[in-house]
Amino acid sequence: MSLNGKTAIITGSNSGIGLGVAHELARAGANVVINSFTDTAEDHRLAETIGKEHEITARYIQADMSKPEQCRALIEQAGGCDILVNNAGIQHVAPVEDFPTEKWDAIIAINMSSAFHTTAAALPMMRRAGWGRIVNIASAHGLTASPFKSAYVTAKHGVVGLTKTVALETAREPITANAICPGYVLTPLVESQIPDTARKYEMSEEEVKQKVILERQPSKEFATVEQVGGTAVFLCSAAAAQITGTTISVDGGWTAL
Ligand code: NAD
Repeated sequence: MSLNGKTAIITGSNSGIGLGVAHELARAGANVVINSFTDTAEDHRLAETIGKEHEITARYIQADMSKPEQCRALIEQAGGCDILVNNAGIQHVAPVEDFPTEKWDAIIAINMSSAFHTTAAALPMMRRAGWGRIVNIASAHGLTASPFKSAYVTAKHGVVGLTKTVALETAREPITANAICPGYVLTPLVESQIPDTARKYEMSEEEVKQKVILERQPSKEFATVEQVGGTAVFLCSAAAAQITGTTISVDGGWTAL
């Protein structure tokens, strides 16, 4: 499958799933824009490495997805957007009554509202180009809930709602909007939750992975960034042209339970 000549912008892509999606889109021929809120030499080197590895153009553009104007500036600065992958995300775990307001606001802004702002900025470009693919990285938590993740679950359900709405608004155009709902993928976001959980349950970190984290994932295996990236590539393929406004789970059976 060839995405040659297409420009893909992946938010929050200097790590984890975003980086994996960037690699898979680049492997399929797309030029990619890598993003995060930092602006280090390592960030720019990462883009250079992806560009060389897949023989495409890769750029790093710094933009903080918690800031509406920076979300929109990312798209404008890229100069074109055929494929938009809204992936940036953070997590915080606490009971509702103890959930810090600033964490709630940050999760809603980064995990949900950023997708609204980037989509609003990208749609006119997609319309001008006569083709567009919006792929939102939601979560199994966009379809189901877990205790202590109120902001994350709310934001991810919101992303699924935004996906459906954008799909309806673009239904008569060669533009699609879909959400990928991964189960657990072993990325820094998940790994950072392991030590605390191990302390809480007095378990080893390996036991936490198997007995706590993968408890709800019937396959008992983590999904991989390559699998999520491959699903994004599929959603950009001709075979997926009539797939819009839906969710695709990559969750080892979690949401079938
Ligand atoms: P990660 O921590 O490895 O990556 C998160 C990315 O978002 C990083 O590149 C980080 O720099 C970026 N980011 C954070 N705050 C940002 C901001 N203000 N502006 C711009 N970029 C910012 O985590 P991940 O697991 O790869 O998560 C990526 C996405 O996948 C998130 O939306 C997450 O909710 C979703 N997801 C992850 C899992 C999982 O198990 N890892 C499961 C389902 C969904």
